[in-house]
Amino acid sequence: MSRSRRQLTRRELLAGACLLSASCTEHSAGDPEYDLLLLGGHLIDPKNGLSAVRDVAVRDGKVEAVADRISPSQAFKVVECGGLYVTPGLLDLHVHVFAGTNEPGSYAGDNSVYPDGYTFRSGVTTVVDAGCAGWRNFEAFRETVIDRARTRVLALANIVGHGMRGGEIEQDLDDMQAAPTAELARRHGDLIVGIKTAHYAGPEWEPIEEAVRAGDAAGIPVMVDFGSNLPERPIETLLGEKLRPGDIYTHCFSGNRRELLPDGTPNPGLFAGRERGVYFDVGHGGGSFKWSVASACLEAGFPPDSISTDLHIGSMNAGMQSQTTTMSKFLALGESLEDVIEQSTWNPAREILREELGHLSVGAAADIAVLSLESGDFGYVDSFGARHRGGERLVCEMTFKDGLLAWDLNGRTREDWRELPHDYGRQGEPRWDGILNRRR
Ligand SMILES: [Zn+2]
Repeated sequence: MSRSRRQLTRRELLAGACLLSASCTEHSAGDPEYDLLLLGGHLIDPKNGLSAVRDVAVRDGKVEAVADRISPSQAFKVVECGGLYVTPGLLDLHVHVFAGTNEPGSYAGDNSVYPDGYTFRSGVTTVVDAGCAGWRNFEAFRETVIDRARTRVLALANIVGHGMRGGEIEQDLDDMQAAPTAELARRHGDLIVGIKTAHYAGPEWEPIEEAVRAGDAAGIPVMVDFGSNLPERPIETLLGEKLRPGDIYTHCFSGNRRELLPDGTPNPGLFAGRERGVYFDVGHGGGSFKWSVASACLEAGFPPDSISTDLHIGSMNAGMQSQTTTMSKFLALGESLEDVIEQSTWNPAREILREELGHLSVGAAADIAVLSLESGDFGYVDSFGARHRGGERLVCEMTFKDGLLAWDLNGRTREDWRELPHDYGRQGEPRWDGILNRRR
């Protein structure tokens, strides 16, 4: 967009906003440099090696400045963030959001959730759908969910042509075809960031090998849900031979696939896989996170590369709950706040080769989470129903997507109603408010 056109648009927006709100009259004399200023928060931006108090300024949906001190007079809207943590918008690498097909018992149906209902309230601005659709139904997924969501939805294409529709559909080796899957991934290269293979219950390696063939053809990584644990295809072979560097092993602390040896220590195959460059993703879900496995792995120096939820209707109402709850579990296991932020922002962005995401560098999309870290006596439940107590809980206070407010737990961006005229109208302005004044 040309500079002159952008300035015209900004003036128009400002003029329009002032018709709606008395609160902007103090700004109307000039055209403030920034649309939004997050003031005095503790910025954790692992890609840029930052964990310190910084002000963050936003303009036209992008990060415009990050500095020790930015004058509030330069900003149209100032939000006090003292005592809070400002982080890149969280990137959840494993979710299921192909809702709305009316298919019961299916991740391409009733098991999925629409993304916007669950993302912003936990600081998530980007999700990666983990294989709900394959080459036969991806276009319907894109049209009915992805293109309509405010959340940035990326996707892994299932190697199964019909996608994650359960039962025999996901066991049909004949429907696992690299060529059309890779072709789909190339055609939707703006959205498809990898190939998924999942839930296979047979002894063959074919699903893994076909997914890797598709990944090779499309130049993208493969994410594996290793399905049933079978002696014919041990985890050591998967991680040591079958996967490529850059592929992703999800459900890494599941307790379902011999992640621990009989003596309770981590399987050396995990370390061998990491040595080769395989990434390890949490993918908590409804059946894939066990305290004893995660704890033993962390104690042995094996943290996850990425923390993800495996969001679906089951997991969100069980122990998983949300991205911030899943992150809090790793705080409870002794990880630092900086580590859990890195594992929920920059690391997953790198895993899917989308390095424009997961950080707040100047020029990056202004996808921002503002988090509080509460102290207390909290309890966290794994997929097996076991509890672990923790003294901290991450809570999402505010979320901004492309510079626009998308969630505000305590109304921190809002005026006290007593400060407004008795006949006050709709608040917020389209320069920063994506809730009351959506641009689309
Ligand atoms: Zn999943």
